Amino acid sequence: MQIHLSDVTSCEGKTIQVSTELEMETVSFQMGEFPVLKKEPVDLVITNTGNKVLELTGNTCVTVSIPCDRCLEQVKVEIPCHIERKLDMKLTDEERVNDLDESNYLTGMDLDVDRLVYLEVLMSWPLKVLCRDDCKGICSQCGKNLNDGPCGCAEEPKDPRMAAISDIFSKFKEV
Ligand SMILES: [Zn+2]
Ligand SMILES: [Zn+2]
Repeated sequence: MQIHLSDVTSCEGKTIQVSTELEMETVSFQMGEFPVLKKEPVDLVITNTGNKVLELTGNTCVTVSIPCDRCLEQVKVEIPCHIERKLDMKLTDEERVNDLDESNYLTGMDLDVDRLVYLEVLMSWPLKVLCRDDCKGICSQCGKNLNDGPCGCAEEPKDPRMAAISDIFSKFKEV
């Protein structure tokens, strides 16, 4: 959702409170595309601290479905977002781009709350996702999820001499 900021920008000392719903259905970036399962409304407080500078603070929480690093089961991950930004409304859109502040959430006087929250979600993205701390992962031979029980695959002989012996046995059987 867009919030138009011209009223608060033109009035020094003014504070506005906005509660808005997020529209994002997925979070996609170089790691892939992840469905958003749940999102809290965003409560934003915007204060004009003078000299056309706005201070933004707010909180929300986005719940995303991310596959477990070991077994690939989908895990519900809550990503809390704490927003704390200063916007200098004196800057033009071009100057902002040159500032490298990734401020594409602000166009003219319009604040795009979804884009702002999206940046926060990426910054808080978990480095490791496990369905449980002791996830056993999947069998490298048959692909079974070992959290559901053992799969019965034989361990591959790791010692080359053992492999040679099992070769001899299988030749012996063929005779
Ligand atoms: Zn797992
Ligand atoms: Zn297996």
